[in-house]
Amino acid sequence: MRQSKLFTKTQKELPADEVAKNAQFLIRAGYIHKEMAGVYQLLPLGLMVVQNIKQIVREEMKTLGTNELLATNLQRKELWERTNRWSDDTVDIWFKTELKAGGEIGLAWSHEEPMAEMMKNHIASRKDLPVAIYQFQNKLRNETRAKSGMMRGREFIMKDAYSFAATEEEHNTFYEACKVAYMNVFKRIGVGDDTYVTFAAGGAFTEFSHEFQTVCEAGEDVTYLCKEKGIAINEEVLEKADLAALGVAREELVATKTAEVGNIFNFGRQKAEEVGLFFTDETGTRVPVWMGSYGIGITRLMGVLVEKFADEKGLVWPASVAPYLVHLVVLNTEDSEIRDWADGIYMSLKEKGVSVLYDDRDTRAGEKFADSDLLGMPYRVVASKKGKAEGMFEVVTRSTSEVRKLSEEELYADFDANPNT
Ligand code: ATP
Ligand code: MG
Repeated sequence: MRQSKLFTKTQKELPADEVAKNAQFLIRAGYIHKEMAGVYQLLPLGLMVVQNIKQIVREEMKTLGTNELLATNLQRKELWERTNRWSDDTVDIWFKTELKAGGEIGLAWSHEEPMAEMMKNHIASRKDLPVAIYQFQNKLRNETRAKSGMMRGREFIMKDAYSFAATEEEHNTFYEACKVAYMNVFKRIGVGDDTYVTFAAGGAFTEFSHEFQTVCEAGEDVTYLCKEKGIAINEEVLEKADLAALGVAREELVATKTAEVGNIFNFGRQKAEEVGLFFTDETGTRVPVWMGSYGIGITRLMGVLVEKFADEKGLVWPASVAPYLVHLVVLNTEDSEIRDWADGIYMSLKEKGVSVLYDDRDTRAGEKFADSDLLGMPYRVVASKKGKAEGMFEVVTRSTSEVRKLSEEELYADFDANPNT
């Protein structure tokens, strides 16, 4: 991609009311546009990061044998009344609206009820189970505090999956496999070492649900961590749980600021019973289906990556989610020989399958470097007059600031060897 053709612009000024570091950097770097508090547009670079995160999640969901679909965001009141979750007293973040033809509808803050309802058309007998489905869809939540930028949006993108099983054992098999898949996602996105499967309040059926909490100063949660044992407990559970049964003592747990990047939940048979989702088992008895719900905050993850990795100069993306692996910056553009040479490198890198953002603009070197730091691609390759004379490129690794000088062949070999292209 030629930067001169990219629809984006870095900026020095910030919306006065933006307090979250993640949104400040993403706005300055031209990844997102702030529409209002907690509501952002994804600009091309921001959308690329989101698509890359989604692709990783999609691949891991595929290994779980789930199918992707897309549900509507308009929801029936009657359905949520059946499970006692329509009232603002039980769910305080609803956006609701009225149909001109009459009647109230809800805007999706979750899809648990409609997914369970829809599955009545697909689940009748034992042979229809187990089955799991997922989607990436916007969620709309009337959050009262929306001060954490992308980490708490009033509209945000979630990956939500739903599992349906005949027996507890069948349910547990999927639930445990999902934990593994989620940790694979977080590893691939670069936060695996800092993300903990956390005991959280159970709700409907089980003693616990599980949150995936990532250590993050800007996170809104406090998690009690024993890093040595890999045990994490959220605040609510800490007050009630038998810690000995969880294999940890209070004094081993350290209160740590975290962000909830995912959450998995076992409804047991309760949700299906409320909604009316039954199947006929081997004995001919009609029994409710075991149901689980599994969320990952896609746009929250994007915010967490910024909070954790950005430095004073700007964004720093892990290669697995960066919009482009390489930021090729050409200096001395007034010299047509240099420009042609850099154009050639750009084409060759592209041919080799390396994703490249090519700063081909006629701008001062200082401005190009500042923009490049702000945009945060993993590698910056500088093509300059001086470099051409030596037959060398300066390659800067954004995360470590390591500077290397590579010849053209070494450059290609380097990115050939890089798996994240
Ligand atoms: P929180 O406790 O942070 O309010 P939640 O428990 O309501 O989140 P879930 O309903 O379990 O969240 O949603 C699944 C995932 O969606 C969460 O783990 C989180 O990563 C993400 N998420 C939830 N609310 C928001 C939001 N307002 N903005 C961005 N992401 C969100
Ligand atoms: Mg939560």
